[in-house]
Amino acid sequence: MTIKELHQKLIRKEISVLEIVKTCLKKIEREDKKIHSFLTLVPELAIKQAQKTQAKIDREFKAPSSKVLNTSKDKISLLCGIPCAIKDNILVEDVKCTAGSKILQDYISPYDATVIKRLKEAGAIILGKTNLDEFAMGSSTENSAFAITRNPHDFNRVPGGSSGGSAAAVASDFCQFALGSDTGGSIRQPAAFCGVVGLKPTYGAVSRYGLVAMASSLDQIGPITNNIEDIKIIFDIIRGRDPLDSTSVESNLKHPTSNIQHLKIGIPKEYFIEGIEEGVRKRVEKVIEKFQKLGIKTLNISLPHTEYALPTYSVIMASEASTNLARYDGIRYGLKESLISEAKVQNLFDFYSEIRGKYFGKEIRRRIVLGSFALSVGYYDEYYLRAQKVRRLIKEDFDQAFSKVDLILTPVSPTVAFKLGEKMDDPIKMYLADIFTVGASLAGLPAISLPCGKVNNLPVGAQLIGKPFQEPTILKAGEIFEKF
Ligand code: GLN
Repeated sequence: MTIKELHQKLIRKEISVLEIVKTCLKKIEREDKKIHSFLTLVPELAIKQAQKTQAKIDREFKAPSSKVLNTSKDKISLLCGIPCAIKDNILVEDVKCTAGSKILQDYISPYDATVIKRLKEAGAIILGKTNLDEFAMGSSTENSAFAITRNPHDFNRVPGGSSGGSAAAVASDFCQFALGSDTGGSIRQPAAFCGVVGLKPTYGAVSRYGLVAMASSLDQIGPITNNIEDIKIIFDIIRGRDPLDSTSVESNLKHPTSNIQHLKIGIPKEYFIEGIEEGVRKRVEKVIEKFQKLGIKTLNISLPHTEYALPTYSVIMASEASTNLARYDGIRYGLKESLISEAKVQNLFDFYSEIRGKYFGKEIRRRIVLGSFALSVGYYDEYYLRAQKVRRLIKEDFDQAFSKVDLILTPVSPTVAFKLGEKMDDPIKMYLADIFTVGASLAGLPAISLPCGKVNNLPVGAQLIGKPFQEPTILKAGEIFEKF
């Protein structure tokens, strides 16, 4: 069902919020042992919230009636009573937030992230927090300190990452939707691997207040769902200016009035290179054909600096992450006193290295070292500053392309979901999984992952990238694609 369909059932009293929530919780209890999409479940909170929400619905809609259809919109949000899951790097008041890291294993969030506040105000029911690669660093959700999430389509394969728990939960129908975060592909790639829809909004479209920061100039929160209509509803609730995040801006969600047939879609040759799995290439080419059949023009374009996107991303991401992670010093943020006294050290520096060495995973330490190096005196110009300059060139490639086309279509990932453990020993191989997603991240552009069929029973995702704040155009094209 879609959110709208569930909503209709709720206000017609054909189903209660409690029934929905209990059904989800039961399903999770039964099936998540194999998948491990959740790190924390909050059944009591969810049930309490469900009762409160039901009371609200009952107040507005006294008796079962079909006439309620027209009035429902103004009084009750479409999200009222809709169950969701939240990536465990987004703060939910009074709920544990680990970011997949031992260093935050006991951290209880003292406040709600802005996106959570908005979801709660709309009446959405939070079922729990989902697994992720530690501090959102990874492409497979194998890097979590607590569990490995499995792909619901094949338990021997990864769900993608870092929002793998959120994507797997939606694909398993444990919840109606989930929130993820995307710094270099972490919403889009797991959505593609799990066969669901994932939107990374334009940088600044959604508040980052209450998101555990990875790389602040790239991080964005976005929805993961089973269909475009649901994405639209959630995005509309979470987006917009927030005084608590100075990089957030008000955006417009007006849908393009112009006929969809006037749209032009660019196909960048640098994204259809050797190394893409044949099956993936074929599925994405089918998407191009489908758009053409719908009367939409497609154009071959070039984004010449694409080959530098991944190294540029690596330097900028690691630099910002090393700075952001400096706050986890073992004194603030949740480590128990017992752990602190465990560190038998003589001075503060030794204390930091003891705690950070012990409670940060390998990948985190790798990136902190890389980032600190790139920012250090003597290397700053050569690495960080140079990466910033190349970032500008990559952005200009997109600006150029968008003077000719409205949207850009690419694969999300060069492969389908890979096997568990397949890339764990080789970080470079793992980083290559992000080769098609980091470009839009560096340019701050909105991008969606659309399911476009399967290869050997494993889902493939097509990526539509749009102009800044043109989420409506992406969603419109996505909707048309989904329907035909
Ligand atoms: N997989 C990418 C990385 O490891 C992206 C992570 C993300 O978007 N949070 O950096």
